[in-house]
Amino acid sequence: MAEFKPDWIVAMGGGSPIDAAKAMWIKYEYPEVTFEDMCKVFGLPKLRTKAHFCAISSTSGTATEVTAFSIITDYQKGIKFPIADFEITPDIAIVDPELAHTMPQKLTAHTGMDAITHAIEAYVSTAHSPYADALAIHAIEMIQESLVKSYNGCMASRDAMHDAQCLAGMAFSNALLGIVHSMAHKTGAAFADQGAHIIHGAANAMYLPKVIKFNSKNEEAKKRYGVIADYMHLGGETLEEKVDLLIAYLRKMNDELNIPHCIAKYGADGLPAEKGFVSEEIFLERVEEIAANAILDACTGSNPRQPSQEDMVKLLKCCYYDTEVDF
Ligand SMILES: [Zn+2]
Repeated sequence: MAEFKPDWIVAMGGGSPIDAAKAMWIKYEYPEVTFEDMCKVFGLPKLRTKAHFCAISSTSGTATEVTAFSIITDYQKGIKFPIADFEITPDIAIVDPELAHTMPQKLTAHTGMDAITHAIEAYVSTAHSPYADALAIHAIEMIQESLVKSYNGCMASRDAMHDAQCLAGMAFSNALLGIVHSMAHKTGAAFADQGAHIIHGAANAMYLPKVIKFNSKNEEAKKRYGVIADYMHLGGETLEEKVDLLIAYLRKMNDELNIPHCIAKYGADGLPAEKGFVSEEIFLERVEEIAANAILDACTGSNPRQPSQEDMVKLLKCCYYDTEVDF
């Protein structure tokens, strides 16, 4: 890039290649900037002194084509770091559903659950706004209608998912996310030495029901989950019932998409397994450090309920064993 000196950068692919191109864009404009500098939330220097940026997504989940985020994995530390700054929002996004038609089934499942997590976390975030709310709720309705059908091969539903994930992206780029993402970022590569990653979308799919239960101790979040359940026509009289019905619905989606419910059952191929690739011993050895990293993640600040170190360890254990969140 430094040699070719482009005045436009065109990134095409799934979330990772586009995110990598965003980081390369920063390096191209400011070669002296270190990765540590890039990770300071909303701390980037002004871009577009050398190039503009166009993103064309070929998967339906991350919505990086419209967001202010880039997720970079540090393989040495085993941690995914979000770069967050409106400077890296692409100038042009091409959202062409046909590019997502060749997604394999598993990728369709994982990216789709990532998208619904974006919408739900944005809707209950402390930075929510009426503008982001409208985008998030509509994305949730579309994903409820389309994701399982898209997974089962319906291309009209696949098209709807490509738009829905983009709406969810516009929601969370404004309203930010919460601790489902903090936990997914910090567990994703934490067991890479055991032979696999916990794929981002699958991690979100497993952790989201547990975090909803944890966050619903916060009154405003509980009301907002109730609104989501109402828009999804899940029934229920009390807010508690609505929250439980929402959790049950998301777990049913995981079953229909062949996504495991917990890390203990998460196979190295991302599919449900009798014995997952992360042993109990390794998990317990690392859980304290993962919890500390998750609390420091850029997504924790906008979560409706702030977790203590002890809460985060307990939450991660619920996500490992698939046990009830009762704290
Ligand atoms: Zn995500």
